[in-house]
Amino acid sequence: MSSLRHAENKSLWAVRELGLPAIVKTCVSCGHSRHHATGKIRVNANGKQLDVWLLIGCERCDRTSKVPVHERVHVSALDHDRLVRFEDNDPAIVRELVHAQRKLDWTGTWELETDLPFYEIEKATERLEVLVRFELPAPIRVEQLLSRGFNLNRPAVKRLVDNGRISLPMPADARARADFEFYAGSTYGRS
Ligand SMILES: [Zn+2]
Repeated sequence: MSSLRHAENKSLWAVRELGLPAIVKTCVSCGHSRHHATGKIRVNANGKQLDVWLLIGCERCDRTSKVPVHERVHVSALDHDRLVRFEDNDPAIVRELVHAQRKLDWTGTWELETDLPFYEIEKATERLEVLVRFELPAPIRVEQLLSRGFNLNRPAVKRLVDNGRISLPMPADARARADFEFYAGSTYGRS
């Protein structure tokens, strides 16, 4: 396969999910700041009032903490199917609750998979359209994605952005966390 061409000049880069982010919260036992989801959700009923917590564990001392999801909510105010999923410790719900936490550390939660490992962007004469698709809402610096995707160091990426061989819908030092498209390669014929 040619290193300079690609079928239809389109490429898909996938940001694959490797795991859940760490929840940044100070442990009351040891003072450590990173927790992981235990995979469990606790539902307590007091009459018609429900409390729902996400259970998290300190990554150093393993102490379990509770993060409130619903506090003293009337049972009729919760969607029944959702309540069942809470009670079943549904992994998709656990993931959703973790992603909804305010302070997260996304280190090590993703990898970039591309379908063009040999594209030589500095030599390419044709324009390439790249769709970056996110499997998880990890905020990732765009220049870091480009660096991994094209296997170039950061200064080389910056040079390509500055001279127009990479055309982005946002600044290179912005963080993306959802699908976007960009163009690479020749500046010839760009509309
Ligand atoms: Zn701890």
